[in-house]
Amino acid sequence: MRAHLQSIDELPTLLAAQRRAFDQQGPVSAEQRRGRIQQVIDLLVEHHQQLAEAMDADFGGRHPGFGLMNDVLGSLGSLKHARDHLHEWMPNEPRQVFAPYDQLGAQGWVQYQPKGSVGIIGTWNAPLFTLLSPLACAFAAGNRAVLKPSEIVPRTAELLAQLVGQRFDPLELAIITGGVEVGQPFASQPFNHLVFTGSTEVGRDIMRRAAENLVPVTLELGGKSPVVIGQNADVAEAARRLAIAKGMNGGQLCISPDRVFVPVALREQFLRQFAETYSGLYPSVTDNPNQVCVVNERHLQRLDGYLQEVREMGVEVLQCPDVPFDASQRRRPLSLVVNPPLTSRIMREEIFGPALVVLTYSDIRHVVEEINQGERPLALYYFGQDQAEQDHVLGHTLSGGVTINDALMHAAMENAPFGGIGASGMGRYHGREGFLEFSHARTVFQAAAVDPRAEWGMLPPYHEGFTAVMQSQISR
Ligand code: NAD
Repeated sequence: MRAHLQSIDELPTLLAAQRRAFDQQGPVSAEQRRGRIQQVIDLLVEHHQQLAEAMDADFGGRHPGFGLMNDVLGSLGSLKHARDHLHEWMPNEPRQVFAPYDQLGAQGWVQYQPKGSVGIIGTWNAPLFTLLSPLACAFAAGNRAVLKPSEIVPRTAELLAQLVGQRFDPLELAIITGGVEVGQPFASQPFNHLVFTGSTEVGRDIMRRAAENLVPVTLELGGKSPVVIGQNADVAEAARRLAIAKGMNGGQLCISPDRVFVPVALREQFLRQFAETYSGLYPSVTDNPNQVCVVNERHLQRLDGYLQEVREMGVEVLQCPDVPFDASQRRRPLSLVVNPPLTSRIMREEIFGPALVVLTYSDIRHVVEEINQGERPLALYYFGQDQAEQDHVLGHTLSGGVTINDALMHAAMENAPFGGIGASGMGRYHGREGFLEFSHARTVFQAAAVDPRAEWGMLPPYHEGFTAVMQSQISR
């Protein structure tokens, strides 16, 4: 059997073989875990250029330097952090044993065991990162894995499959390419854990399928990440940083700012500064190699559809940069959509592209209410210097993560969990929390040599005073 599976029909046999190998192996040493992670690191280091070119070609335009930063260096960050810290995460954790057994010499600890085989389904927007960053934690925890890249980036998927096929023992890591016809049976396999990155809608289907086999899931989903610009924020700096963040991957990031709440009085300044920064970063649209293309025609039509709808509703839409462009290409200027109605699609669906909704407000409490009326977002951004206001926003909302006075940054913290809540997902990876996600925390109690229960009158047949003794123990 090869690590690059040719058909989904091979997957059950492979999983059974991984299971046998796992059971036979027993404990997976730190060295073995590091070795598996190192193989992935070596694959990326040796083939980073080809991989960046494949992503560029799949998008029809994604600067190879950006591909290296987002996917190759992003994945390497997770892999190296896991490689260099797993020895700290692996040891058994002693736990205090309850009285009086602690006095008698009993001991207790938690043992972190690998679960077995982890299935990982990735997206097109970060084709390597959504596979290899969770893989770093799955390997750190001692698991084996099978990857399923997105079919929307076929060159990247095929290249990664070839490279994994050349390098890996299929009993440790395998890969299968394909679309929904592969994804659905993949999610129906009896993995020991399943990681899915993708849309909320497909996430529901994944969870239903996993439930059939009682497979635990990590769902890394999307949502409409809000930005709150406080009353006393440095609005020019906030607009500048948001313009930089929004340009990343052409807005096709799960934590991309989706809608910005701006104090009414700061509206003009915000729009002006945002447009100026964005247009400075991307002064042209057509053939601009620094701008990442919308990935395909379907997504382009979706985005053009949002904008056409709000224009027909008479909503103000500003283009950055405000220059003519060739609409037959999949590059678009960024559209700032100001105060669209709640009924518009751009207010209901995740934008996931070069557009940003700007909503003006006069009372921050209403902003918090509006955020809470929607689904829990993957990210939340707050700009401001007012501690009480910041505490109010953070204390009254829930989101996967938060960046204060910038955007996207929290996701780059390899030593802190990354994941959503509610409709933006469940579970997490990165760092120790990622290790724990893919480990079984097994509690072990080791009894003392002496068993005093008979001597203490604790065993049946219960003596006359037994109930009274029990009652005497009941306390607040
Ligand atoms: P998608 O849900 O369409 O597809 C994701 C993956 O699932 C692909 O590999 C696809 O082949 C597979 N798939 C599709 N339908 C399936 C089904 N019914 N059963 C099993 N597998 C199926 O998502 P996408 O368009 O690739 O990615 C965009 C979405 O992903 C956005 O919502 C974005 O916010 C989210 N996202 C989240 C994160 C995160 O870390 N939380 C990261 C990147 C993207």
